[in-house]
Amino acid sequence: MATGYVYDPIYLEHDLRGHPENQQRLKSILRVLEQRGLLPRLTSIDAVPISRERLERVHTARYIDQVQRVAAQGGGHLDADTYVRPASYDAALMAAGGLVEAARAVLDGEVDNTFALVRPPGHHALSNRGMGFCLFNNVAVAARYALAERGLDRVLIVDFDVHHGNGTQDEFEADPAVMLISTHQYPYYPGTGHWSDTGTGPGEGSMVNVPLAGGVGDEGFRRILAEVVMPAAWRFQPQLILVSAGYDAHWDDPLAYMQLSIDGYTAIARALKDLAGELCAGRLVFTLEGGYHLDALSYGVLNTFGVLLDGEAWQVVDPLGPSPRGERPVDDVIARVLVAHGWS
Ligand SMILES: [Zn+2]
Repeated sequence: MATGYVYDPIYLEHDLRGHPENQQRLKSILRVLEQRGLLPRLTSIDAVPISRERLERVHTARYIDQVQRVAAQGGGHLDADTYVRPASYDAALMAAGGLVEAARAVLDGEVDNTFALVRPPGHHALSNRGMGFCLFNNVAVAARYALAERGLDRVLIVDFDVHHGNGTQDEFEADPAVMLISTHQYPYYPGTGHWSDTGTGPGEGSMVNVPLAGGVGDEGFRRILAEVVMPAAWRFQPQLILVSAGYDAHWDDPLAYMQLSIDGYTAIARALKDLAGELCAGRLVFTLEGGYHLDALSYGVLNTFGVLLDGEAWQVVDPLGPSPRGERPVDDVIARVLVAHGWS
């Protein structure tokens, strides 16, 4: 088995001191991967800047030009949360391009699976607007690449970031070729992702939203994986699984109120790896979205790599332990999602 990773130093140059989505996130991940001896066991995949043609499958030319212009003028903000620095345009091109390379390496059989350690993140970015710390929608660009250039008919995106992947939903809600399964705190930023959002027109049924009240933890996610994610994926029969991996549903994350532990994240990675093995020859590509507690983020990513490499053999490392608080039950939300899709 070979597991790939994508990283480029330009991802550190998109940085604003005091902002939660800063370069320390990626530095911390790399430090932990190095300390734990993971890097020499991984296959490095070079990032390249995304081509204009590939980027314009998702974003308008006018918006791409706007990001370039703001960066060239010394930086600024696209909205209150979303900053652009002088290097941000080049970093964002390299983030989308890095994830496409990660997908290409898996589809070409160079590696079995990959994790793209890219910044800025992408899942909130709309076709014509950056938002929620995101400039270009990396996972949407990669899914479009797989469909348009690799002849795939069905791509599954699983988004377990604590925030709803509204940009990804916006791109694919009318497209039956992409199923999006998103777990997220609700109501919460950005406000979308109700269980009744199931897709539109020919895409009806392909958006699977699992909106969760704060307080859902490892046991709740175990049940959601078993009772929603697995059956939905089996129905869809994806040829590739992309994962918007956010580690901000950890119990100690400063931006949200969920109760996942590192063990819970490891179990999610294991379930997705098993699913990819059963449905699409193991073709599984993770991309970094959120996660703002540096240790929760870094050890979450470490253990995800451990699962991708070794599966059951990996020794879980969790310096933070389980959530000190009780869990909120998920029976009601699971029932509502199943009814919304006519699966119950
Ligand atoms: Zn997030």
